[in-house]
Amino acid sequence: MKTDKFEFSCQTCGNCCAGDSGYVWLSEEEQLKISKFLDLPLNEFLKKYTKKINGRITLKELRKSENDYWCIFLDKRRKCKIYECRPLQCRNYPYWQNLLNDDELLKIHSTICKGMILNDKNIF
Ligand code: SF4
Ligand code: SF4
Repeated sequence: MKTDKFEFSCQTCGNCCAGDSGYVWLSEEEQLKISKFLDLPLNEFLKKYTKKINGRITLKELRKSENDYWCIFLDKRRKCKIYECRPLQCRNYPYWQNLLNDDELLKIHSTICKGMILNDKNIF
């Protein structure tokens, strides 16, 4: 993916997997893929690692402190325990359409993501 709004090279800081509470949505295909990766029956995987919000499946979070929620798959070194089969939403960050369409939101994320350098001339 490419945009003229920022340069990006992941620094594996783990900041996109922690911080404010949020959602990591899983498709049915991703649920199956991750449960297989963890060698768990699908129903056990769903019970242990996910929750349902408005009919959709998202990963659980662990509250580390006020306003610091970690994805359930983030380990102590801030690495993803399921990196090889992490969901598309994680793979696509920070090239999310809502960020690409919103410069103010992009600026906020550039303070979170250590791998993102804004091209100031293309940000309004
Ligand atoms: S699944 Fe992995 S990459 Fe995605 S938010 Fe959780 S820890 Fe981060
Ligand atoms: S916040 Fe940015 S640099 Fe850090 S792990 Fe996530 S994508 Fe990579």
